[in-house]
Amino acid sequence: MNTIGVLGLQGDFAKHHAMLSRLGVKAELVVTPEQIGRIDGLVIPGGESTTIGKLMAGYGLLEPLKARIAGGMAVFGTCAGMILLARRIQGSVQIRIGAMDIEVNRNAYGRQISSFEADIPVSFIREPARGVFIRAPIITDTGREVSVLGEFEGRPVLVRQGKLLASSFHPELTEDGRIHEYFLAMVDR
Ligand code: GLN
Repeated sequence: MNTIGVLGLQGDFAKHHAMLSRLGVKAELVVTPEQIGRIDGLVIPGGESTTIGKLMAGYGLLEPLKARIAGGMAVFGTCAGMILLARRIQGSVQIRIGAMDIEVNRNAYGRQISSFEADIPVSFIREPARGVFIRAPIITDTGREVSVLGEFEGRPVLVRQGKLLASSFHPELTEDGRIHEYFLAMVDR
């Protein structure tokens, strides 16, 4: 059986772990480079991207993870996790993985209302997903390799590039496992 790692340094990793367990997956909280070396896929949770980035560097996880991504491991980043995957972060030099050809603007949905929910039509599911946005990043640009799988108000909020999946919102905070199931189908078995 595959093991799906959930980066367990900061943020709402417990919610992702619970969702994966509910879907019958073997999930493990990841905090060491050794774990990065043996998991089959990784979820990077929401939280505070600057903090998670610093901790990743401090725990020596950044380079091993970049290598696994280059080798084709599937990674799903939600909110702060998406920011960490993004190659370009407007106005920020913060530590990142930078593997996805997207540009994001942090907290851009959160200037007036810091959090909200909306129905998001998603290309691979029939009924819309409930999007929970919490001081969420706006995706301001996507490269040619990036497919847009879900949009809100004309902007991408769920995107995929090869084995990388990223959302501005938090599917782990709902009862709806369909986006996690889509990610699990991306994991090599
Ligand atoms: N605002 C956070 C950041 O910039 C992300 C918020 C979240 O993950 N819900 O890192």
